[in-house]
Amino acid sequence: MKKLKILGRTILPGETINLEAEVAKLYDSTDLTMPVKIIRGEKEGPIVFLSAAIHGDEINGVEIIREVLKIIERKKIKGTIIAVPIVNVFGFNNKSRYLPDRRDLNRSFPGSENGSLASRMAKIFMNEIISKCTHGIDFHTGAIHRSNHPQIRADLSCKETKKFAKSFRAPIIVDSQTRDGSLREMARRKGVITLVFEGGEALRFEDDVITAGVKGCISALREIGVLPKLKLVSNRPKPIMALGSYWIRSPKGGTFKLKVKNGQMVKKNQVIGEVTDPLGTDVELIRVHNSGYILGINKLPLVTQGEALVHIATTREGNYKKDRLMDSVD
Ligand SMILES: [Zn+2]
Repeated sequence: MKKLKILGRTILPGETINLEAEVAKLYDSTDLTMPVKIIRGEKEGPIVFLSAAIHGDEINGVEIIREVLKIIERKKIKGTIIAVPIVNVFGFNNKSRYLPDRRDLNRSFPGSENGSLASRMAKIFMNEIISKCTHGIDFHTGAIHRSNHPQIRADLSCKETKKFAKSFRAPIIVDSQTRDGSLREMARRKGVITLVFEGGEALRFEDDVITAGVKGCISALREIGVLPKLKLVSNRPKPIMALGSYWIRSPKGGTFKLKVKNGQMVKKNQVIGEVTDPLGTDVELIRVHNSGYILGINKLPLVTQGEALVHIATTREGNYKKDRLMDSVD
């Protein structure tokens, strides 16, 4: 079997180990480390990274990985799982998306040894984890006060990625291009088949999202042979394949009353909510531009003009426009 060395440690077939990747020191010189668990099966197979909290406040994935590890540890696996439940340990400890200097770790890949803290962390993650893998799943959530319906984002122009994405069986798969500096883009360049899971909102543990993430992850691991395939065909509905997405924005400042739910199908011109003043004399109905499915919602009713209200996935080509809002693209 091939030699597998991670963070200076050789991992033997059949071995399960916990490691701490040294990241940096805190202000008081305490070491800050990134927890890593490696489970290597007796038999050769795919090497899969599972990562979460690359945005430090997106914590549903931390729990998803913990639950997946509990399941995997009871089974015989083929290949290797490298679990990194908290990539951005600085952000996680500060309940923040960012690093202390406000840099975004998921815009800092592939990173450099002499760059910013984010860049150095990205470099460690790239060299020690991603470059050793064949597959990966990176877990995210919406931003603060924004909730995403459980979904997979992947580059569906790659056949293998598409197959891997479908096997996750999330309710929606969004065909999404990678963006410069993201983990997914760098993994793609290294030939690592990578999915991004999005579900729920920042700073929450949400049962329905965690269940979707755990079930999806186990199902995807079965597809690539890390876990044995089930003889029974899953009765979960097939995912909706979205070609793109767009945000509906508020035409003015005021309070927003939402009238739809995440995952719901909506038709063109359907009212999804209203923006109003406190006396209710100036009510503006918010309508759907193009039919689709609700992918994400703004949960904070206080909105300004231009505020992103609802994120909609579209399934017909030419029926959407790409919105370059930072947190709409993992
Ligand atoms: Zn994120």
